[in-house]
Amino acid sequence: MVKRERWRQDFSGWFNDVLQEADIMDTRYPVKGLYVWRPYGMKLRNLVFSILKQLHESSGHQEVLFPLLIPETLFQKEAEHIRGFGGQVYWVTHGGHQKLDVKLALRPTSETSMYPMFALWIRTHADLPIKVYQVVNVFRYETKMTKPLIRLREVTTFKEAHTAHATAEEAEAQVREAIKIYRKFYDELGVPYIVSKRPPWDTFAGAVYSIAFDTVTPDGKALQIGTIHNLGQNFAKVYGLKYEAVDGKHHHVYQTCYGISERAVAATIMAHGDDAGLCLPPDVAPIQVVIVPIPFKEKETPVENVAAQVKEELTSTGLRAHLDDRDLRPGNKFYHWERRGVPLRIEIGPKDVEKDQVTAVRRDTGERLTIARKSMKKQVGEILKQITDHLRERAKRSFEALVNSAVDLKSARELLKKQGGIIRVPWCGRESCGKLIAEKAEAEMLGEEIGAGPQPEAKCPICSDPATVNALLAKTY
Ligand code: ZN
Repeated sequence: MVKRERWRQDFSGWFNDVLQEADIMDTRYPVKGLYVWRPYGMKLRNLVFSILKQLHESSGHQEVLFPLLIPETLFQKEAEHIRGFGGQVYWVTHGGHQKLDVKLALRPTSETSMYPMFALWIRTHADLPIKVYQVVNVFRYETKMTKPLIRLREVTTFKEAHTAHATAEEAEAQVREAIKIYRKFYDELGVPYIVSKRPPWDTFAGAVYSIAFDTVTPDGKALQIGTIHNLGQNFAKVYGLKYEAVDGKHHHVYQTCYGISERAVAATIMAHGDDAGLCLPPDVAPIQVVIVPIPFKEKETPVENVAAQVKEELTSTGLRAHLDDRDLRPGNKFYHWERRGVPLRIEIGPKDVEKDQVTAVRRDTGERLTIARKSMKKQVGEILKQITDHLRERAKRSFEALVNSAVDLKSARELLKKQGGIIRVPWCGRESCGKLIAEKAEAEMLGEEIGAGPQPEAKCPICSDPATVNALLAKTY
């Protein structure tokens, strides 16, 4: 079993090494906060986002593509929104040598480019609901320290969905559907998470309320990996999104939006990695099985022929199999694919050929298995399934060890200092108490937990009133 010591104790260094050694990203691009996706990383990214796109398509969302540039006149219309993003916007001020009459924002998110167009598309109730999404890059001038896949100035991969509905109830139902989609997505990646309603002071600029998914990094910090916003009629009123109801009257629509970025890739990497590097769930591994021939001089030809046949057999079942026939020592090849997190390695030596078998080695446990050729296709499928289950369980155990409850703020503070993670504290739900809870615990308030409430007798540690919710506290990325 590969250890997870450095993964935990030096997470930041581990993460940067994995991105480099597994060919995920090149971090040497000469603009701060901008990074280059390398081919293997790009494949991983596409596999992760194809799951997310599929979940949107199968729930009635349609893909669109809006322009990157947003005129200042549109962008400045929603006052709250501007307050939230104002300091982080990149502006295009010139076209060639010509100064532009109207400055153009590089989208930090797309509400202000999409909704004026929605206003043109919506006439009657029959045009509703609108449920669209796009996967695009967005720009934010981050002033905090940037980190590949986690804090970027160009978010290269932002899946943003935007919806419009006739009634507040339908918008509420849409929020629930979005939560369901995001749960399915992260469950499939085996990434553990906790869902909370962000406190009022941390709500998305222009939203009525915001829901967030957070996971925990191996070194115990909370990382936001998805957000869902109920926008109410705020944007609809500013951009004139109205529909004619059956009774002939005009009403503003109700809206929601929700997004997930390449942090989903970061979360997958950190949830499953170990001290040998990347360790990928088979569903998103660019290569699921790598075949390494181990020839002896005089018997070279049969070993390589068999290796090629094995590759063909596995590929024919729809697996992403790769034959490494480079002129390198097998040990170097093992190391190479281990660092890249390939879930299963198949070794074929003269003895295997003789006995009509292959030797399989699991990346997650290091376990070696001998498999008869005639049952290989079936068994490889089963082993990959076991790897998926094991990785999911292991990630869940690590996560659960870092999500704890505390009854008072002193123990919350001490737990956070000692091992980090997310701490549940009973809360009356009042904003003034919430701010003090966070301050006294010396942590960020993620929000109130969704899906679990406080113990029956629990009291708010500030005002001693009965607690109505769990506050989630953490140090954040
Ligand atoms: Zn209170």
